[in-house]
Amino acid sequence: MEDFKKIIVAVDGFSSCGKSTLAKSLAKRVGYGYVDTGAMYRSVTLYLLRNGVAIDGNQIEPIVKALDKIQISFKNVNGKNCTFLNGENVEEEIREMYVSERVSDVAAISEIRRAMVQQQQRMGLDKGIVMDGRDIGTVVFPNAELKIFMTADPDVRAERRYQEILAKGKLTTMEEVINNLSERDRIDSTRKDSPLRQAEDAVVLDNSEMTEQEQLDFALELFNRKTAQLVS
Ligand code: C5P
Repeated sequence: MEDFKKIIVAVDGFSSCGKSTLAKSLAKRVGYGYVDTGAMYRSVTLYLLRNGVAIDGNQIEPIVKALDKIQISFKNVNGKNCTFLNGENVEEEIREMYVSERVSDVAAISEIRRAMVQQQQRMGLDKGIVMDGRDIGTVVFPNAELKIFMTADPDVRAERRYQEILAKGKLTTMEEVINNLSERDRIDSTRKDSPLRQAEDAVVLDNSEMTEQEQLDFALELFNRKTAQLVS
């Protein structure tokens, strides 16, 4: 029987491009683990906000102390991938706007990135993983066998995010959503440490006019081609 080697799939891109939707469905389809690295930065943000720790790269000592007290894990709860912060299910809370508004400042702090990247690299030691984020193909796993860089028209992204928030019964305005997405993209792309950029060997997926199924088919095709090359 053919033995297919496991690979690492890195999915990077701008905010609200549908990275996690694609990464999750690809992982499920091919029987791989899925890691949402944005949820890790969001969990750190939630911890700092709850504990009154200043989000300031020039006051690093309290941040480093806080990092020692933060444990992030993922667990499947009723078929849903959920993020746990020190044993508490924070999956809903980390998506709140007050967290979204500070997460990019938190993610720009090198000490925090170093701690998260270490954990992410450990999670990928055995491969067989789909990880989504901003720096997975460039920094976390520069040797990932398959890298997908996702992008979409800013209006399409804002509309999707807006509908997502409304569907959860939360109040927001289109203006608030557009401002948050563009501000996060700006900070994420211009920060000194690990800015968001497309890896040279990444395949670009612009999903502005694609259904979720079409995106999955596109990714599966790349995945199958890659793993077939690696058959041992
Ligand atoms: O993916 P998501 O939009 O939930 O990520 C939230 C924020 O976390 C991003 O805007 C970015 O600032 C940060 N992030 C990061 N590196 C990653 C994943 C997320 O800097 N690998």
